[in-house]
Amino acid sequence: MTKQRLVILGAGESGVGTALLGKKKGYEVFVSDKGKIKEKYKQVLIHNEIEWEDEKHSEEKILNANTVMKSPGIPDKVDLIKQIRTKGIKVVSEIEFASKYTDAIIVGITGSNGKTTTASLTHHIIKQELNVGLGGNIGDSFAKQVLEHDFKNYVLEISSFQLDDIIDFKPHIAVITNITPDHLDRYDYQFENYIASKFRIAINQTKHDYLIYDADDEVITNHLKEYPVQSTLLPFSLKKTIKNGAYLDKEKIIITIDNNQIIMPTTNLALEGKHNIKNAMAASTVAHLLKIRKQTIRESLENFQGVEHRLEQVLKINKVQYINDSKATNVNATYYALESMDTPTVWIVGGTDKGNDYEELFQFVNEKVKAIICLGVDNEKLMNTFGNMVDIIIETQFMSEAVKIAYKIAEAGDNVLLSPACASFDLFENYEDRGRQFKNAVRNL
Ligand code: ADP
Repeated sequence: MTKQRLVILGAGESGVGTALLGKKKGYEVFVSDKGKIKEKYKQVLIHNEIEWEDEKHSEEKILNANTVMKSPGIPDKVDLIKQIRTKGIKVVSEIEFASKYTDAIIVGITGSNGKTTTASLTHHIIKQELNVGLGGNIGDSFAKQVLEHDFKNYVLEISSFQLDDIIDFKPHIAVITNITPDHLDRYDYQFENYIASKFRIAINQTKHDYLIYDADDEVITNHLKEYPVQSTLLPFSLKKTIKNGAYLDKEKIIITIDNNQIIMPTTNLALEGKHNIKNAMAASTVAHLLKIRKQTIRESLENFQGVEHRLEQVLKINKVQYINDSKATNVNATYYALESMDTPTVWIVGGTDKGNDYEELFQFVNEKVKAIICLGVDNEKLMNTFGNMVDIIIETQFMSEAVKIAYKIAEAGDNVLLSPACASFDLFENYEDRGRQFKNAVRNL
């Protein structure tokens, strides 16, 4: 029998993981990347005798595929993908492909903000009692883990791009943290298309599967009214009582599933901010569904170390707390960062503006921000928007300078917060690079 041909477009973490899994499962695998493949991935492909090319896509080697796995970074609009689809070749995402080869229970977490935090926290809780892998957009690819481990459970962080190319994939437990406009360039600038993409996480679910979501998010609740899903719904809310799901009662999280209730205090949560209470509710609801003991959930929420670049406490110098929230690449993430500041704050903001509307931040800027340091290519818009709201607003193109200025302005008891609300590609390689440069500059003070 001739082998099925699996072509992988894009040799990043998910592409290379899928190549390895595909090869093990008997496919003839070809990997093609239009850019330069990272050396570490090249070595893996060579070592495993997988055919590859980079800096081009050879159509004659691609259009004869039975299945194409497309990296989530490649938009549907590109000519090659159109040709592939016209030929009737099946196009799948990594999670679609890899999920065929595991019987594990899958928790899939999507949303505009909070995916990594919620996925990491969920994994942190359930790994105390169950055999569980953490994958998707975090760490090792899901495909690689399916190949190398025999996890009985997976927590997957899933982006909308990954969801666009699922066919039969369904998580047993899905989470939608929230939906705010993002990546609209990939969705014909139609917010509805982006919302529909996020809801694909539940598209194959039945009533035996669960959908956990933020009931305070009107985008989600309105969509659910219009397009009901089959899943058993477990909403969470900070504002109202929830019979089946989770809610906040003063300083307690109350989670009820089929009359089985657990109650947990929020007073000792390791992560600060209202958004993190929501993330904790989502993660604990998953854990409760998976029958993790209450004591374990409570302790895990208290000792979770947090995730780098998300409201990460860096150092305290002269009683000033320096906080790295470099992953706040949109306004909504920065909204929650500013909301969680409980002392006067010197705010470092800016980068590549994605058509931001800063209005939702005005109240917090008035109440909490004592100085603004604009750091990026689009400083002018920030200076014009916030110029009248604070006494000090300064612009720079250098992280070290931004941090030095912040150091001069901040007084004992203040916070210095890097929460850019913008993409990082103007001055930095990515948000991690931006966060690390911030931390280095703080350590060098
Ligand atoms: P994602 O993986 O979806 O990008 P992260 O967990 O990496 O989300 O967090 C991205 C940014 O959003 C960080 O600045 C973080 O502090 C903020 N954030 C985390 N959880 C939430 C939430 N539930 N709602 C809004 N913002 C959040």
